[in-house]
Amino acid sequence: MSPGMPSRSDHNLPRMIITIDGPAGTGKSTVAHQLAKRLGLEFLDTGAMYRAAALVALDAKIDPTDGLTLASAVERIDMHFTWSADPPRLLLGDRDVSQRIRDLDVSEVVSIVAGQGELRRTLVAWQRRIAEAHRRLVSEGRDQGSVVFPEADLRFYLDADLAIRAQRRARQLVDAGMQVSRDRIERDILQRDRMDESRADGPLVRPQGAIVVDTGHRNVDQVVTELATIAHRQLPDFGLDP
Ligand code: C5P
Repeated sequence: MSPGMPSRSDHNLPRMIITIDGPAGTGKSTVAHQLAKRLGLEFLDTGAMYRAAALVALDAKIDPTDGLTLASAVERIDMHFTWSADPPRLLLGDRDVSQRIRDLDVSEVVSIVAGQGELRRTLVAWQRRIAEAHRRLVSEGRDQGSVVFPEADLRFYLDADLAIRAQRRARQLVDAGMQVSRDRIERDILQRDRMDESRADGPLVRPQGAIVVDTGHRNVDQVVTELATIAHRQLPDFGLDP
């Protein structure tokens, strides 16, 4: 697992981290990516890392509840982001799995995998190494503001009604050419929420001090504009793009 080469553009600007957490289907990834672009920061999708670990489990037929075996398999594999792409692609060796990890078979097993403490420790350590190399970051996930970067400069928590989240996820999958039923997606999201909220290690919570934003009845652009306005107001000395 490589943190990637340090970004050259960061040299003269202060280190900073904005975290975005929240349940599935709130538009977190799209919002985090767009916000990073708008503010001139890099973007880290930590859900992709858990999804890639789930794919490793599926491919190698590792029991998804066997955290020790899975963590050591993930440590051995060459998992890395291509930081020159926007958004960064996720590779296992030379195999680009960015699309494959969105499939429903991965979604169905990822929260089991993400509930394993050994694996979480491995991925959290990797996320912190990435933040050392990529010093100006928007990091998105479930535990970014609470566990991984509690010292973040700004923390957001995105939320929305279940029905809206399921509808969004269905649209994403249909756009990606997949055949899916709304019921199955709603069940998948509900089950993942429950597992994410109830695990002992790094559960989904509203981090202390996080600004809660309801994305339900607003489009991506409106949410990004709101977050960018807050960032400019709260972090005036960090050299953010206007
Ligand atoms: O954000 P996304 O839906 O791609 O995340 C997939 C799964 O990865 C989540 O349902 C959750 O179980 C897990 N995850 C996590 N901690 C993170 C990011 C994702 O447990 N920081």
